[in-house]
Amino acid sequence: MWYVSTRGVAPRVNFEGALFSGYAPDGGLFMPEELPQLDRETLCQWSTLSYPGLVKELCALFIGSELLPKDELNDLIDRAFSRFRHREVVHLSRLRNGLNVLELWHGVTYAFKDLSLSCTAQFLQYFLEKREKHVTVVVGTSGDTGSAAIESVQGAKNMDIIVLLPKGHCTKIQELQMTTVLKQNVHVFGVEGNSDELDEPIKTVFADVAFVKKHNLMSLNSINWSRVLVQMAHHFFAYFQCTPSLDTHPLPLVEVVVPTGAAGNLAAGYIAQKIGLPIRLVVAVNRNDIIHRTVQQGDFSLSEAVKSTLASAMDIQVPYNMERVFWLLSGSDSQVTRALMEQFERTQSVNLPKELHSKWERQDYEKMAVMECDGCCVELCLGNCGPRRGSMTDIPGTAMVRGGG
Ligand SMILES: *Cc1c(COP(=O)(O)O)cnc(C)c1O
Repeated sequence: MWYVSTRGVAPRVNFEGALFSGYAPDGGLFMPEELPQLDRETLCQWSTLSYPGLVKELCALFIGSELLPKDELNDLIDRAFSRFRHREVVHLSRLRNGLNVLELWHGVTYAFKDLSLSCTAQFLQYFLEKREKHVTVVVGTSGDTGSAAIESVQGAKNMDIIVLLPKGHCTKIQELQMTTVLKQNVHVFGVEGNSDELDEPIKTVFADVAFVKKHNLMSLNSINWSRVLVQMAHHFFAYFQCTPSLDTHPLPLVEVVVPTGAAGNLAAGYIAQKIGLPIRLVVAVNRNDIIHRTVQQGDFSLSEAVKSTLASAMDIQVPYNMERVFWLLSGSDSQVTRALMEQFERTQSVNLPKELHSKWERQDYEKMAVMECDGCCVELCLGNCGPRRGSMTDIPGTAMVRGGG
C-alpha cells in the first residue's frame, strides 16, 4: 500500500514513511493511494470480531505484510492494548431508544487517544528496533495528547519523549499523569502561557529542518496517518455492535456522532464510510465552530481566537485533518486540495469552491451534517441528538452512536 500527499507534489511513501512523517514535504497529509472496497461478505466476516480483531484487520489492509508480517502486527496490537482496563478494550453501552455510547476511555489515561497512540507507538518501536534508530517525540499538549503519548512510549528503548504542558491550564489529574511517570525516556516541562503560546517554540523547532534531522525529532499529533488508521476501528466496532443482522438490502445505516477537535477521528470515520461502512457521520463541535461554518456556508476561515470551553480537547482553531476530508470530498483531487489549503495558509480564510461545497451538500450532507454543541450536559444531547442542533459536553473518549436494534 502506497501513500500519497493530499497536495500531490511530494513523492509517494509506504506505511513506514507515512508513520515517521508528520506533514508530507509539500505540506500535505498522507492518504492511501487507493481505497480498498469492502464487500458485504467481508463486512459479515468482520462483524463478529473483537475491537482488537478489527484493528488487526484494518491495519493489515493498509500496511502491507511485506513491511510488517501479519503475526508480528497482531502481536504489536495485542501489546498495545495489554494495559487497557476493559476486557473488550472498547465497549458499547446501550441506552434507551436505540441510543448508544461507545466507551473509548478504558485506556490508562482515560483519553480516547490511548487507543490510537498505543498502537502507533508499537509500530514506531517495531521499525526503530529493526533499523536500529532512535527518535525523540516532541509534544505540546493541553492534556489528553500529552498523557496518552507519555503512556504509550514510556519505557520504550528507542524513543524519548519531551512534553510541554501549560502550567495551570491542564486538569490536575492530567498534570499528575504527566509529571509522575518516572521512566528515563520521559521528559516533561511545565511552561508559562496557554496552549497556543506553547505551540510557538515547538513550531520554531520543527521549522529548523537541520536541527530536526540531526536529533531525529518527530511529532505525534493527530495528523499522523497511523492514528487515523487505528481510529477507523472505532467506527467499525460501533457499527457491528449496533446491527444485529447484516442480511438486509441495503445494509442498515448507523449514525455516529463524533466529538471533534482536529478532526482525526472524523477523517477516520469518513474513510471507513468510503471503503464501505454504511455510517452517517454527525460532527459535534463546540463554540470553536470552524467545521460547522464550513459545512453550513462553505466558510473555512479562522476565528479570531480559541474559545475556552469545558471540552478543552475540542478547543481547536485549525482542524488539520479537514484537509483529508476535503481531499476525499474532491474525489482525491490534489490540485483542488492544494489550492484550497495554500490559500487558507496565506489568508486564514477560504470560501470552499462551489463544486466542492455543493458536492458536500448533494452527496454527503446526508452523511455528514453538523451539530453545534455548547458545553451543556449529556442528557440534553441524548434528547436532541440529530443532524441540526443539540447540546453536549465532550465526555472524554466517547462517541454517541445511534441505530440498529
Ligand atoms: C482529542 C480529543 C477530541 C478531538 O479528537 P479529534 O480526532 O482531534 O477531532 C475530542 N474529545 C476528546 C476527549 C479528545 O481527547
